Amino acid sequence: MANIPVSTYLLIKLSSRCNLSCTYCYWFRDSTVYETPKLLLSNVENLLVEKLKIHIEKHELKSFNCIFHGGEPMLFGIDRFTSLLNKLNEISSLTGCQIEYSITTNGVLINDEWAALFMKNSVRVAISIDGKNTVHDKYRKTLNGKDSHSQVIRGYNILVETGINPSIIAVCDPLSDAAETLNFFVDDLHCNSFDILPPDLNYSNEIIPISKYYIALFDSWYDNYFDKGVKVRFLVSLIRSVLGLETDTDSFGYGPLHTISLNTNGALEPNDVLRIGGNERTKTTANIETDSLDDVCSEPNWQEAYNSALKLCAQCESCKYNFACGGGHLSHRWSVENGYDNPSVYCEDLKQIFDHVWTRVSNDIFISQTTGDILLSDYLKTV
Ligand code: SF4
Ligand code: SF4
Repeated sequence: MANIPVSTYLLIKLSSRCNLSCTYCYWFRDSTVYETPKLLLSNVENLLVEKLKIHIEKHELKSFNCIFHGGEPMLFGIDRFTSLLNKLNEISSLTGCQIEYSITTNGVLINDEWAALFMKNSVRVAISIDGKNTVHDKYRKTLNGKDSHSQVIRGYNILVETGINPSIIAVCDPLSDAAETLNFFVDDLHCNSFDILPPDLNYSNEIIPISKYYIALFDSWYDNYFDKGVKVRFLVSLIRSVLGLETDTDSFGYGPLHTISLNTNGALEPNDVLRIGGNERTKTTANIETDSLDDVCSEPNWQEAYNSALKLCAQCESCKYNFACGGGHLSHRWSVENGYDNPSVYCEDLKQIFDHVWTRVSNDIFISQTTGDILLSDYLKTV
């Protein structure tokens, strides 16, 4: 454990259930999720506050990130969420540690009261919208099979009217029109920071190639929106990674994975997205009742995820893209036969995407004489 950095990211499952039933959702693929409490247990909430304070003091942390997640985290209810934020704010005051809040929501339950609470506590809101209704409603259905787009857009608009600048997280439909989705987010929703991610799949799933989609998306963005400061995280990270710079995504790029997840029953686990490979990928014996936040880092599944993110398979090791790609997202590498010892299921697509991005940006690059930063002409943007 000596070389493992102290975790400053805690993903808190406020709810393990959802009010939508998206066809591609990784969270419900393994039905053991229904064995966990629907909402974060009250005693787990109290222990979270207690153990987080100890963690911050022990490591003298100046900043920490609480990421509220689900299922659908807003099912937790506004009264309990207000109370939790108050307790976390108190820890921040007592320790001097800046605790940043973010929430990922499907947006259906957003109303003026919730929006005001987010605003008051500077909670960054990421709302899941996959594009126009024709794209979004193909996959993101209500529990009784109805379309959810209009409800989600209503929630998004309430946030904007409150003065919040929400980001959007979309899952791409590789067979849809990428430029149309981009235009919808920027021109119709006036969103200037969002992400469009590949579907969460591994070697047990059927894969639809994504290269055509991302190449079209990149071209449309680079030609029309890059200079206007529109940030599509996946695309910015593609540029940064082909230039050998650090990225703020775990979708690809070489680097450790050290987020801790707190489940509603108090279980401390590795990053929840590894559940794409089933509950066995994230199961640990660590629980907030008996263990510290650090203790999860010695659990086999946590160690496997951490080490696998840093140790690439032989094919990736000898690949010319490996410094940019890093084997892709860890969860996309998993197979029953080899665990994480595989290239990404999107390997061939990623190669085509990296080639294309390099071809597009390589002529526009120069080094700033004053700062030494790598810049893209003509607009002096550091990417
Ligand atoms: S809203 Fe999120 S948690 Fe709920 S079903 Fe859809 S993808 Fe899963
Ligand atoms: S492109 Fe394929 S082989 Fe190369 S690093 Fe990425 S996943 Fe591995």
